[in-house]
Amino acid sequence: MYNGLRGGRPPAGPVMQGSARFFAVSSKHTSEASRVQCSIFLACFECLGNITATPLNRGWRLLASFDSYLSVTEKLSAATSVKHLDINQAYALLAYCGSMTTPDGADIQRKRCDCCSIFYPVITERYAEPQKCPICAIDANCKRLSDLRRSSTRDD
Ligand SMILES: [Zn+2]
Repeated sequence: MYNGLRGGRPPAGPVMQGSARFFAVSSKHTSEASRVQCSIFLACFECLGNITATPLNRGWRLLASFDSYLSVTEKLSAATSVKHLDINQAYALLAYCGSMTTPDGADIQRKRCDCCSIFYPVITERYAEPQKCPICAIDANCKRLSDLRRSSTRDD
């Protein structure tokens, strides 16, 4: 079925999706940039669910949102080394989010950033703890680097 729908074979497994933390917690395996990728895919999935009040077929909705996610992030991935989610990872991410239909009790929930307003995935078991927004973390890091650069040129 995958072959017929996508015109190709599914990406080779196994994939790094054994744990919900892989998608939501920054670590040496998970960069802030890949957390942004997860946020974008979930936003595409959510948007597609809003096109009609009729419940959509889950498989179709996954494929259609994965396609829009790829086209939305195409330029970004071409310009940077940020890796796309593959379809298996997107599927696993959705499963951790309770397919976004049953977010209560799901391993991953989405949280809205007070500062930049994006929705980003957070681990539910640590919901009470601060889990930083990936966009703001990238922004803070860029600011820190440019401050460093500025102070080092001043010292010269
Ligand atoms: Zn933010």
